[in-house]
Amino acid sequence: MGYCSVSVRCGLLLGLAFALALPAQAKLQVLASIKPLALIAQEVVGDQADVITLLPITASPHDYPLKMSDHRNLRNADLVLWIGPEMESFLARPLGNLPVEKVITSYQLPGLNWPAIEQDDDHHHTNHAHTDKDPHLWLDPRNAVVIARALATRLAQLQPQSAVKFQANAQRFALSVQALDKQLAAQLNPVKTVGFAVYHEGYGHFVGRYGLHQVAYVTYTPERRPGAKHLKELREVLANEGRCLFMEPHYKVQGLEGMVTTLNLGIGLLDPIGDQQVSSYQQLLQQLSQSFLTCLADRRDH
Ligand SMILES: [Zn+2]
Repeated sequence: MGYCSVSVRCGLLLGLAFALALPAQAKLQVLASIKPLALIAQEVVGDQADVITLLPITASPHDYPLKMSDHRNLRNADLVLWIGPEMESFLARPLGNLPVEKVITSYQLPGLNWPAIEQDDDHHHTNHAHTDKDPHLWLDPRNAVVIARALATRLAQLQPQSAVKFQANAQRFALSVQALDKQLAAQLNPVKTVGFAVYHEGYGHFVGRYGLHQVAYVTYTPERRPGAKHLKELREVLANEGRCLFMEPHYKVQGLEGMVTTLNLGIGLLDPIGDQQVSSYQQLLQQLSQSFLTCLADRRDH
């Protein structure tokens, strides 16, 4: 026929025809709202899907202005994994437009563990729009397992030929996290009675799981500056039983240095999201545990 006279061109045409005939072999796209959820998702999908993280690690998960490219990523995702409106309130409306089977709302999963709310802490909460359950639920390793299993089930529905892989990945993750959970409990046991304050009220799941002695927080949500009345209360509580004050990256509060010096507090840094160096969920928890330990063990006998 002389149509494909040059073999290279012929091959290109064949290749093009092939690509047009079979366009559906693209990997599944899983969009996780925040880094901790992306780390959990990565364990479950393995090499069977791509995981994208919506929020940069420097952004607050409580308040984030979505960009055009974020909206595009949301539309293109096969599955979106987020905590829920209690955490990423800015996602409630865009996710409301997606079909329900494309979204996993972690906060609503059955089988999650919730920390007990301390009664004597209640007066701190009166000024805030307060949800009863702490949405930073990934900080309890048992909840990470719940999320991983739910994700494996949903991914298996989306891509049945990989179902066995997803389930096996979730199972391996569960075993690894359960071992780590035991390790952290043993590590933190010697510092359980050392009182401390955290920067924002976001560690209840970790503190509750390992029975740590949190006595106060500087601010309820990171964006809100503490008022004079709250700072006065904070100082009184810390003067009585505080040994450490844990701050967070990306936030600063004026006037805390004086309190730290006069009360002779140790200073630590907690990162609930995980910085650039953190590349697995287990590492995120280990880093958090290490941060608690470093200050609390040092101040135990002061
Ligand atoms: Zn938070």
